[in-house]
Amino acid sequence: MKRIVIASNNLGKIKEIENILGNNKFEFLSLKDVGFNQEILEDQDSFEGNALKKALSVAKETNEIVLADDSGLEVDILNGKPGVFSARFSGENATDEENTKKLLEMMKDIPKEHRGAQFRCVLILMLPNGKIYRADGICRGRIADKPYGNNGFGYDPIFIPEGYDKTFGELQKHEKNNISHRFFALQKLKKIMAKEGLLD
Ligand code: IMP
Repeated sequence: MKRIVIASNNLGKIKEIENILGNNKFEFLSLKDVGFNQEILEDQDSFEGNALKKALSVAKETNEIVLADDSGLEVDILNGKPGVFSARFSGENATDEENTKKLLEMMKDIPKEHRGAQFRCVLILMLPNGKIYRADGICRGRIADKPYGNNGFGYDPIFIPEGYDKTFGELQKHEKNNISHRFFALQKLKKIMAKEGLLD
């Protein structure tokens, strides 16, 4: 069985990745599992930059296959904000509620037809031989007028995916996981991995 290090300690995220990629070919390891305890600052100006930085930092220390991701919310009328600042939109160590509140406040006079937004996820897979693969995924939707539901995390209670009239906060986990930005990015990556013989 090949080992693959997910450059994260978020067990929810690791489980989600395992569910989609898992075909008994890989043993999935967290940063903690491989003894990596450095803090990696997500200070790049793009999701790609941050995912690449995470993958490189871990690959340098481990000599394992490394998978890193970075994601966030991009609001059309705000020119893609909060983007890479999604987790700290209302300041360092901001809570999900504070970030959501700030975004809703900025959007309070924007009518429904101009509330378009998307979640985006970028994945970087790095092999010990230096090969790098990239895949991204998008989930289109719009920003709700106020929070609905308590499921998920981050901006889920204010994001209504296209084709639905409920927020991610109201949808069940499996419903979100079948249409999420991370799901589409992982599907693409899986195809790339199959082509490269990494799933044989
Ligand atoms: P990260 O990729 O885990 O660093 O996520 C960055 C930030 O983007 C999170 O803290 C959330 O605010 C936001 N975000 C990313 N993916 C999602 C999602 O699926 N739902 C809600 N918020 C998300």
